[in-house]
Amino acid sequence: MSDYKMLINGQMVAGDATMSVLNPATEEPVATCPRASKAQLDQAVAAAKAAFPAWSKTSIDERRKVLIAIADVIQDNVNDFARLLTQEQGKPLADATGEVMGASAFCRYFATLDLPDRVVTDDATSRVEVRRKPLGVVGCIIPWNFPMILMMFKLPAALLAGNTVVVKPAPTTPLTALKLAGLIKDLAPPGVINIIADANDLGGEMTKHPDIRKISFTGSTETGKKVMASAADALKRISLELGGNDALIVLDDVDPKVTAPQVYGAAMQNAGQVCIAAKRIYVHESMYDAMCDELAKCANEAVVGDGLEQGTQMGPLQNKAQFEKVLGFLESAKKDGKIIAGGGRKGDKGYFINPTIVRDIAEGSKLVDEEQFGPVMPVIKYSDPADAVRRANNSMYGLGGSIWAKDSDRAWDLATEMESGSVWVNKHADIQPHLPFGGAKFSGIGSELGEEGLKEFTQVQVLNMAR
Ligand code: NAD
Repeated sequence: MSDYKMLINGQMVAGDATMSVLNPATEEPVATCPRASKAQLDQAVAAAKAAFPAWSKTSIDERRKVLIAIADVIQDNVNDFARLLTQEQGKPLADATGEVMGASAFCRYFATLDLPDRVVTDDATSRVEVRRKPLGVVGCIIPWNFPMILMMFKLPAALLAGNTVVVKPAPTTPLTALKLAGLIKDLAPPGVINIIADANDLGGEMTKHPDIRKISFTGSTETGKKVMASAADALKRISLELGGNDALIVLDDVDPKVTAPQVYGAAMQNAGQVCIAAKRIYVHESMYDAMCDELAKCANEAVVGDGLEQGTQMGPLQNKAQFEKVLGFLESAKKDGKIIAGGGRKGDKGYFINPTIVRDIAEGSKLVDEEQFGPVMPVIKYSDPADAVRRANNSMYGLGGSIWAKDSDRAWDLATEMESGSVWVNKHADIQPHLPFGGAKFSGIGSELGEEGLKEFTQVQVLNMAR
């Protein structure tokens, strides 16, 4: 018997199969979870397709009310959601609470937006309007690092624009999405919101499904390429939020004691499993030793443990595959650089890796060139800031990046040279619901959030009348 159910056509239904969801801190099951069959995915898509004509004709005010009601439900249940999020995802409870509150706030933000018709011409000879129409059924595919808030980058925007949705969380973190499904099932007409769970086998079926008109995908670059290829046949719209290898560049005028803890935080939040975590740290040669020492101090002082335990600052890696992948990065880092803090697994139960600082490492090492997505930080020495920016840009990724300096004008000028979707100065990973977020190069296609993100869930229509 499953402890959770899926939302299909307004009903909470069991899966055709079940699967276990593990707590990454204990490797013990958190719950038994439904697993949808292909037939159940088809039912969800059919329900969304049937609900689309009526939903797309509702007023935007009506849809705003649904978004606000969803935001309220999340807010009213913040503690329950946060606890469950920590159990399935691993992050410390305070961070989980922040993510849940953020999910509510992001959902609420979309209710403030509008999609007005734009009158281009209105004279004696013609009237021309540009309108934003919904697309139809939207498939939302979510990864496991921020299961709740990333869902709220997509679901409210898709609904506000008048689309209906099928949401698929990641197979290792489906529980918060299914809990939400049970709480919001009556807030919109049957079929408008469908939430299913899979064992990593239905994402591909969604991307090639003929009745899904758009896929909004967040996940790895490797899977993003598959999404793009398989969406081609049905000429589906896609937006892809993919991997990153963010460079963080520290100029020569900062105080290492002040900046190192901030840099550490930029890299190690969520045990490094953040698409826009700082993943390559470039430090000027004049303060390289001092920064390395301060970063090692931060890592050595960090409290690593079960996210439900009070005082925990870093939880485990979210799943076994990621845990093993990061251990692989550690092995190559041992050969390519010098480990000055951490360097291995913590304990023998749970997917814990001690926060690790690696110095005397450079490009050409896997830890610098690829996305580690874990708590292992390479610190790279440079002598010329312009060269550091060139090296930062010499990557297939282009998600985020940041420059740190006392002289913020100098940092701003260098920031304009960075080839990434977001660039920060004296901060990192500052995501706000009203700011468009997206990647350059292999980090993605399109934007989420802000008005730009909302528009991606629409089709432009020009209405052009002769008088
Ligand atoms: P993943 O690509 O393995 O999985 C993401 C989702 O895609 C899951 O729901 C999965 O079930 C589904 N999926 C698997 N195969 C699929 C297929 N063939 N077609 C369609 N969907 C499929 O990614 P992950 O390991 O869960 O997440 C980590 C990655 O996500 C990292 O690379 C990280 O940088 C990236 N990420 C990016 C952003 C961003 O906004 N740019 C945000 C968070 C995470």
